[in-house]
Amino acid sequence: MSDFETFKEIQKQMKAYQLVLGIASWDSNTEAPKDAFPYRSEMLSIISGEHFSLMTSEKYKKTINSLMEQLDDLNNQQQREIKKAKKSLDKIDKIPKSEYVEYSRLVNMAQRVWEEAKEKDDFEKFKPYLEKIIKYQKKMVRYREDTDNPYNVLLDDFEEGMTMEKYDAFFDKVKTELVPFVQEILAAKGEENDAFIHKKYPKDKQKMFVEYLLDVFDYNLDRGLLKESVHPFTWNTHSKDVRLTVRYMENFVFSSIFAAIHELGHAIYEQQVDEMFDMTNLKSGASMGIHESQSRFYENVIGRSYEFWSVHYTKLKNTFPDQLKNVSLDDFHRGINRVEESFIRVEADELTYPLHILIRYEIERAIFNDDVSVDDLPELWNKKMKEYLNIDVDKPSNGILQDVHWSGGAFGYFPTYALGSAYAAQIYYTIKEELDFEELIEQDKIKKINEWLKEKIHCFGSSLTPEEIIKKVTGEPFNPDYYIRYLKEKYTDLYLN
Ligand code: ZN
Repeated sequence: MSDFETFKEIQKQMKAYQLVLGIASWDSNTEAPKDAFPYRSEMLSIISGEHFSLMTSEKYKKTINSLMEQLDDLNNQQQREIKKAKKSLDKIDKIPKSEYVEYSRLVNMAQRVWEEAKEKDDFEKFKPYLEKIIKYQKKMVRYREDTDNPYNVLLDDFEEGMTMEKYDAFFDKVKTELVPFVQEILAAKGEENDAFIHKKYPKDKQKMFVEYLLDVFDYNLDRGLLKESVHPFTWNTHSKDVRLTVRYMENFVFSSIFAAIHELGHAIYEQQVDEMFDMTNLKSGASMGIHESQSRFYENVIGRSYEFWSVHYTKLKNTFPDQLKNVSLDDFHRGINRVEESFIRVEADELTYPLHILIRYEIERAIFNDDVSVDDLPELWNKKMKEYLNIDVDKPSNGILQDVHWSGGAFGYFPTYALGSAYAAQIYYTIKEELDFEELIEQDKIKKINEWLKEKIHCFGSSLTPEEIIKKVTGEPFNPDYYIRYLKEKYTDLYLN
């Protein structure tokens, strides 16, 4: 058996474990009764232990390392598979096992402590955990790579090819162009007919509308499933099993509508990956940033457009006749694109969202580059909120304690959210040149847009890097100017004209 065949055989075994663990995690997050958890976590820890042993077995390591020496004899796709496998292997293999176990325990604990600290608005409670996690992160990066820039390694983990230098250029644009623009928009805001936003929308009717949306976006139910969960997410094992969840909030109907469209973006991407990648480690989307570009493209570029609601508003109005009485299409369109200075990232509108990410990026950068003390983080956070969004943070749960990411050690993750929106804008200006984009939305032909995205982006899975995809689709490397232009055009139109 050749090394490559051995690699494929071990990988297939790993995929079998991943399927079982994946189905169990889907079940845990959607339907499993709460008392089932102690038993199942004990059983599942056996399965994940087996999976881990396979992933770190001498045979597997030897095969990968030997294949790294023979890259020239492999085709492009095989080379990509091996390089990806090597990278995942290094992430666990170069760290001493005892420290790996210790770290996993720490983040497990930290997540629970963070929840409690957030609930009690007590940063001091979370502080020692955050300090330890940061120390570990710095140390673990150095095991993997001899570098003066640990943050670069983390950024690359979440978005292959991205560096501080590239993000600095991006966020510099966000800061100089958008901070003053947001203030200009907020100053221009007048009285709005938007009381309908927080009326009561019964859950069963919301569900009916979300099911209608699945059809509008041509989500394939033979390869998918819709359920409810506390936090909406998309889940998949391969291109023929891609599921999504939503949450229905009776006093905030937009949450379920736009979370559904967002997750549909992730899900349609996964359903449209070429099935030839199903058995490889290239089966999923190219990166966090490219994935987020698709979900935000569907959610914001399509889902919050006037053209979209010019076709679907009647259906929504018929579903909620009392709630939307006397609300015109114009009122509705402005309502779903309302700009507000707000504390919470996940509730932020499309325009102020990148400023929330800017704050997190600058703080993470300072943690890893300038060794800023954890003691000083809350104040630093609040100072930046004042500077960029002009609001005074009143409590840690509205500030530094709001996001789960750091408690799980996910540093370098946040910037991909803003990057995704920026990729989406760059893709938008290309798609407009190649398709009658607005007309297709108005004619309820999103299927045609799906087909374009499939051919240009989705079908490749992660066989191409994010940089290669952006270059291939738009004809140029990532360029943040499109994002600034997109936001300025959209919000000038909505508020300043
Ligand atoms: Zn997303």
